[in-house]
Amino acid sequence: MSLPLPGSIDPILVPRAKLAGESRLDILGLSRAELKTALIEAGVSAPQASMRMRQIWHWVYHRGVTSFAVMDNITKDLRGDLEKVFYISRPEIVTAQYSEDGTRKYLLKFRDGSEAETVYIPDEDEKKHRGTLCISAQVGCTLNCRFCYTGTQRLVRNLEPGEIVAQMMIARDDLEEWPISTEGRRVTNIVMMGMGEPLYNFENVKKALKIIMDKEGIQLSRRRITLSTAGVVPMMERAGKEIGVNLAVSLHATNNEVRSEIVPLNKKYPLEELMAACQKYPGAHNSRRITFEYVMLKGINDSDKDAKQLIALIHRYKLPAKVNLIPFNPWPGSPYECSDWDQVKRFSGLIFKSGISAPIRMPRGRDIMAACGQLKSESVKERASARSKG
Ligand code: SF4
Repeated sequence: MSLPLPGSIDPILVPRAKLAGESRLDILGLSRAELKTALIEAGVSAPQASMRMRQIWHWVYHRGVTSFAVMDNITKDLRGDLEKVFYISRPEIVTAQYSEDGTRKYLLKFRDGSEAETVYIPDEDEKKHRGTLCISAQVGCTLNCRFCYTGTQRLVRNLEPGEIVAQMMIARDDLEEWPISTEGRRVTNIVMMGMGEPLYNFENVKKALKIIMDKEGIQLSRRRITLSTAGVVPMMERAGKEIGVNLAVSLHATNNEVRSEIVPLNKKYPLEELMAACQKYPGAHNSRRITFEYVMLKGINDSDKDAKQLIALIHRYKLPAKVNLIPFNPWPGSPYECSDWDQVKRFSGLIFKSGISAPIRMPRGRDIMAACGQLKSESVKERASARSKG
């Protein structure tokens, strides 16, 4: 094998590593077709490329390896050659925090120094052996939802497909979940609900989720993946058609006046348009309901009248829906307080009574979490303070 061959057979544009100091190509985040093309470009013969691609795919996404040296069904010479052209990345774990309740929170640093958070939340009932990984789509966010700590940080950039997949890989590394098994998994579900708006990074999120769903790799079913949007109406139908995962919508209010205050994106895509887009979401039906996230803010959106309006809104649009009630988790300087506990329970009861499921999502990992986005902010502050001391 000669390295590297000129890319004369290039039907697919393989994304190149753009990072300083690394001329090799990161395998993480390449589609199967891109990996095959890159192997041919690197000198693997065309008839062998499909087989090699499948072998490497299996090692990377089924076994979780990060080195070619262990790929013992590939000849030693070829492994050495591959190592010169490719690498299998993992972001640096800046901090990993472990809560008493099993929640794990990671602050990850990517190769350009950008940081994002990933959180693993095990099911409260240990016997169920379930756990949800909350994945970030962007570094920072542009949307400035007023209850959200990440919204106070400016957008730095979209995460690349490999960086989105890497959040899954890091969690599985840490939970020792390699090789992939369909039995006894700990990361059983994903929510795209971390930092950033996934529908503002649509192509990268789509590519990453397709890799995570791939049947010969991590094999997570689309039914176990939920994409959460603040309401980017024009992209919702495409998300349903092209990715086909479950949809969650950050609703948080039942009229435009309050919602525009809490979720400023509502000024662009008001409730009527948002609910109509939910109605059209492909694949939504009673066994795959749309989730409305509703953060409980004292005196803002938590009255009995709000609960009744929420029920009326869901009924008016005849949506197969459930509501997740989230007690607000205040952060220093946050403009809101959490609703009183009795009112959260009452609100939930009113919605349940109407036939719509409305569980209260108890905050997990309180001892480590604080609000989403806070780890990153703390890390930025620490660096700023170190610089000013230096
Ligand atoms: S809730 Fe989501 S969309 Fe809104 S500011 Fe926070 S990260 Fe961005």
